[in-house]
Amino acid sequence: MTKIQNSKQQLNKSKTAGLYIHIPFCRSKCGYCDFYSVTSLHQIPDFLKALEREMEIYRREMDRFDSLYLGGGTPSVLTIRDFTNILSQIDKIFSFASDTEITVEVNPADVDRKYLESLRQLGVNRLHIGVQSFDEEVLSFLERRHSRSHAVLAIESAQKAGFDNMGLDLIYGVPGQDRQSWLDNLSLAVSFDVAHLSCYQLTMEARTPLGIRQQRGEFSLPGEEIQHELFLTTSETLEDAGYVHYEVSNFAKNLSAASRHNQKYWNHTPYLGLGPAAHSFRDNRRWWNHRSVNQYIRDLGRGKAPVEGAETLTDGQLQMEALYLGLRTKKGIHLIDFSARYQCDLLSENGDIRATLDKAGLVVIKDGYLSPTRTGFAVADSLSQIWKLS
Ligand code: SF4
Repeated sequence: MTKIQNSKQQLNKSKTAGLYIHIPFCRSKCGYCDFYSVTSLHQIPDFLKALEREMEIYRREMDRFDSLYLGGGTPSVLTIRDFTNILSQIDKIFSFASDTEITVEVNPADVDRKYLESLRQLGVNRLHIGVQSFDEEVLSFLERRHSRSHAVLAIESAQKAGFDNMGLDLIYGVPGQDRQSWLDNLSLAVSFDVAHLSCYQLTMEARTPLGIRQQRGEFSLPGEEIQHELFLTTSETLEDAGYVHYEVSNFAKNLSAASRHNQKYWNHTPYLGLGPAAHSFRDNRRWWNHRSVNQYIRDLGRGKAPVEGAETLTDGQLQMEALYLGLRTKKGIHLIDFSARYQCDLLSENGDIRATLDKAGLVVIKDGYLSPTRTGFAVADSLSQIWKLS
């Protein structure tokens, strides 16, 4: 075992894991979506039986969890009875901290106050609503099945149901979108005073229906300059409104509202992912399930883990990932911790690079952290590629 793997294993032991469950169903597919989901809702009962079997297989994989995230797909295609069964099964099989963050993603078209109150009563304490836009034309372009009024009603119903920890997903950089129309979306989102906002730039995967239409030349996305301006506008507007821009795409009213679960993906904390296409990570090993509900149900019917592949990360890959993910967060990278965990002094061989980035206003070093500035955030994915790791 290498020194890094040894120190990673020590570190993994000291960090509490997260549990993710992928609900792979949607009532219809959005044109830009590259997440794994299917519309064959009649398979839900078989999927839920398979999920119970998968939980049994991983009963002893991780000691304890302090976050549970039900994502998808669209978890809100499930009934309250489905949620009751899943949560009671999870509770029987796994061990959780008393203050566990329990998040459920919902589609605005699926939920009303009664449904949301029931989720709240089941112990769900964080709700993530896939709003994407308050603009009817944008919703139609994205092929979302909800309207602006669905989105507004879902937010208000969630607040009445007692969700004080709520996040909204929004998308910018849609064809034809200008700064003002995006600002209108942001200001409406801010007016609800929700705890968390995730703002994603629209990207097109070639295999999606909208990706295919883009390749045919039916539309084009805004150019790099406009995207850059929209990114900076988002950051400035939301920080002015009192949000902390704590990760490239994520904003929280205060740091206690930052997603505990998602932070585990960014700092090499162990997580267990159940459901088709779900990924898991522990020590220096990552594994992932088949991207197929049919195969998932078949494998678990035979008592077999539905794992499609696994990889053991090398020391270099661990370092590179930690650098890449760390520079996507406002806090950045703690230089002494990084050196202890990854056996790599980021500054000793990179003094010139650091000075150049510093001068360009892309990074700062403060209180022992190497952190991106707002402008650095806008090019965060390139920053990590500039460093030479020894
Ligand atoms: S609802 Fe979400 S997961 Fe389902 S198709 Fe749309 S973007 Fe994809």
